[in-house]
Amino acid sequence: MTALTPLDRAHTHPATLARTRERIGLITEAARRAGAYVAGAGSRGVAPTADAVAGLGAFGHPLPDSPRPAREVLAELDAFGSPATVVTGHGRHFGFVTGGTDPAAAAAAILAGAWDQNPGAFSPVAEALDRVACAWVVEALGLPSTAAASFNGGATVANLTGIIAARDALLARRGWDVGEQGLAGAPALRVVIGDEAHVSAVKALRLAGFGAVQIERVPTDASGAIDASCFPADTDDLTLVVLQAGNVDTGASDPFAAVIPGVRERGGWVHVDGAFGLWAAASPALRSRVAGVEGADSWATDGHKWLNLPYDSGIVVVRDPADLARAMRTDAAYLPSDPAALRGRGIQISQRARGVEAWAMLASHGREGLAALVEASCMHAALLARLLTEGGATLLAPVTLNQVLVSFGTHAATDAVVAAVQAEGTTWASGTVWHGTHAMRLSVSDAATTADDVAAAASAILECWAATRG
Ligand SMILES: *Cc1c(COP(=O)(O)O)cnc(C)c1O
Repeated sequence: MTALTPLDRAHTHPATLARTRERIGLITEAARRAGAYVAGAGSRGVAPTADAVAGLGAFGHPLPDSPRPAREVLAELDAFGSPATVVTGHGRHFGFVTGGTDPAAAAAAILAGAWDQNPGAFSPVAEALDRVACAWVVEALGLPSTAAASFNGGATVANLTGIIAARDALLARRGWDVGEQGLAGAPALRVVIGDEAHVSAVKALRLAGFGAVQIERVPTDASGAIDASCFPADTDDLTLVVLQAGNVDTGASDPFAAVIPGVRERGGWVHVDGAFGLWAAASPALRSRVAGVEGADSWATDGHKWLNLPYDSGIVVVRDPADLARAMRTDAAYLPSDPAALRGRGIQISQRARGVEAWAMLASHGREGLAALVEASCMHAALLARLLTEGGATLLAPVTLNQVLVSFGTHAATDAVVAAVQAEGTTWASGTVWHGTHAMRLSVSDAATTADDVAAAASAILECWAATRG
């Protein structure tokens, strides 16, 4: 156990000393159990067994009448919780776009848990790390160095933040102050998005006051990206365009270079939902996949996906800091509006010190390590696609980034393979419907994934396919 200093012993009330000793013991015990979890999780199935899931019923005992030792509570969490996790961090979880947790970030999260800082109110350390981490993210993504950025709960919140900043900025340029006058009676905005925009962007638009009838959809091509030849040429200064970096099924990005300059020249705003795809910009080798994305007005991305930060972590970046500050200001005597403060750059006031983990991850990987993470994921996705197609699966879209989309014959056959793979445990992938075809989608977004993991996953999938064919 960590020793207390002589000063602590001399100046602390015995009861306080005992409580501090207990806290230290608990944190150490939690870290020990976390280590044991990591040691064991790699050798069990990615999805929890039915027995482990059934064991979760143990948590539902009646709310205790009286206090219990925290150590017992921790043991109970570990006993029933640890076997029932989805193993996201051992390299064979390819579901959704998940990503494991970077070791430096996971370790930083333990320290940050003890720190318990609130960068939305007052915390020099959390504010300093947030400032540096935001600047590093902007730099790594090749976005304008003068842009404002902030961490939040994920790409959906980041999309919402960017879209609200856009809405208020476009209206402000027409002399309409949303803070003062609200939205009723405001000039109508035209919203343009791709046919295959992520549901997160649509949800964010709805939360910002834009319903389906106000949203114009642009057709997409065979890769799932907007077809530039179908993009309206008559957008104006009341137009908000939401583009996508990384189609969630194929990884394809909208044609930024062809679309963004015209929209902005005509006075409109371009927001980019780049939850995972924006990270292609962090690799010199892959940057061309999102060419021109840096020309937009605002960007949303995730830390908890491809950057391998712990949940939850999203990032919004807005080209003109004044546009973010206008939309996110807080005016109160005890929380003065301050565009430099976190509460002035995002929706939340109190919040987790997400910059701590981001700083640790980026400090540990550096520019080259980050590029290597992105490139290795894409290389492993290509390998996965090759092994599956060599085994007879049909590739439904070219692998341009880290997403793999395959089918196994009929809709029913593909559904059966997805279900069998999820139950078998070696790996985990989810199903989708791609342009009318039932598919398995695999996302390689964890630095832990190795070529061996890919080979093991491909074999397991092909064996499940063989088993379902009987
Ligand atoms: C995952 C994802 C989102 C939503 O991100 P959350 O972090 O889950 O809120 C939005 N857009 C795209 C393209 C995504 O892949």
